[in-house]
Amino acid sequence: MASNFAAPRGTQDILPPASAQWSALEARIRALAEQFGYAEIRTPIFESTALFARGVGEATDIVEKEMYTFVDRGGREITLRPEFTAPVVRAVLEGNLLAAGPLRLFYLGPIFRYERPQKGRYRQAHQFGVECFGFEGPEADLEVIALAWSLVRAYGIDDARIVLNSIGDAACRPRYRAALLEHFRPHAATLSEESQRRLERNPLRVLDSKDPRDAALVASAPALESTLCDGCRAHFDAVRGYLDLLGIPYVVDPSMVRGLDYYERTVFEITSGILGAQSSVCGGGRYDGLVASLGGPPTPAVGFALGIERFLLMVAACAPPAPPARSGYQAIALGAQARSRLVPIVARLRDAYGRAAFMDYGDRRVKAQFKIADRNGARYALILGTDELERGELVRRDLVDRTEQRLPLAGDVAAAIVEAER
Ligand code: ATP
Ligand code: MG
Repeated sequence: MASNFAAPRGTQDILPPASAQWSALEARIRALAEQFGYAEIRTPIFESTALFARGVGEATDIVEKEMYTFVDRGGREITLRPEFTAPVVRAVLEGNLLAAGPLRLFYLGPIFRYERPQKGRYRQAHQFGVECFGFEGPEADLEVIALAWSLVRAYGIDDARIVLNSIGDAACRPRYRAALLEHFRPHAATLSEESQRRLERNPLRVLDSKDPRDAALVASAPALESTLCDGCRAHFDAVRGYLDLLGIPYVVDPSMVRGLDYYERTVFEITSGILGAQSSVCGGGRYDGLVASLGGPPTPAVGFALGIERFLLMVAACAPPAPPARSGYQAIALGAQARSRLVPIVARLRDAYGRAAFMDYGDRRVKAQFKIADRNGARYALILGTDELERGELVRRDLVDRTEQRLPLAGDVAAAIVEAER
């Protein structure tokens, strides 16, 4: 029954039963965000291209080669959002939300990146993320890391780990930049073309290179930690102290710089061996300069983005999802007369008693209808055939306990059905 059309390359349909896992995760995310005091923000799926060029940074993978950009009918340069942080900051400024002081927001939705599709890497993917605006102290860094970690823990993902680093700030990063330039420049000709291009624009991005030609020089590059200024060092120490205090495990990786230009001081990732080459499920950090660079008041901020697809891959590898508990009613009518008798009972089970109730309107045999009940995850079957109609009875079968009961087909039948649950 294949159609003449296929989903666009790098996109996926989320079909049942996987879609139920998605909504369960989304519900958990919402509950967790609420527990930490984060309110939801929803922004448009497309924005003006300039927002990402400025907000994400010109010398990033995203802006250099991954954006879905087009000119609309009005001649505007438009891009499907490749990430949420720049749009969230744009919306926060446009809605003047910072006027009321610190602000905690979370988001959940699709992102678009023109990437080479592979396991855990798609052209349409989904992210959950948070942004915490208005606190410059290390408590906010701790808060967002703890929030991401809570989700990982809630799903019992054992091999996940937090990788942490500090990439300095406007005061000390220039020193590090200079040290990197001094390290790479004499050997620039041996670097990959991409790294050569990046060297002068943003030498930190060379550290992020995955090209084997760059590996040796990257490994011998000076460590950023040695050039951190006192303020950045104190901040980094305090974040680590808090993580220790809360018993949140992490490793420090001095070469982790993250792909986006706007980070300062703390950067972190959550990685898992299960994901292979796409090892990172969550990335975040502090971006104290971004709000001002997009035209707002100077505002410290910290956040993260977590990939839903990769997270679910991790969950599936660690703990295969338990089959959901069975609930609700499968109404099985045999014949037209039984069907018309059952329809209002099903409606009443839903409307008056809030029960899940399913019914197949075809003329299938009982056996086929029980299969449908299994597929629907129904706990009970309500069976009405010609014999039952004649006797004025309805059979209620518990599909888990395999017990059966006959209920009179008179009065408020739905009430009697619900009563029998006890
Ligand atoms: P990578 O190094 O794997 O390209 P990234 O640094 O580009 O990741 P971020 O921009 O930090 O990723 O995005 C945060 C998270 O969003 C990632 O850790 C990942 O889980 C998810 N993500 C990013 N791009 C994709 C994609 N193309 N397909 C699926 N998930 C993605
Ligand atoms: Mg990427």
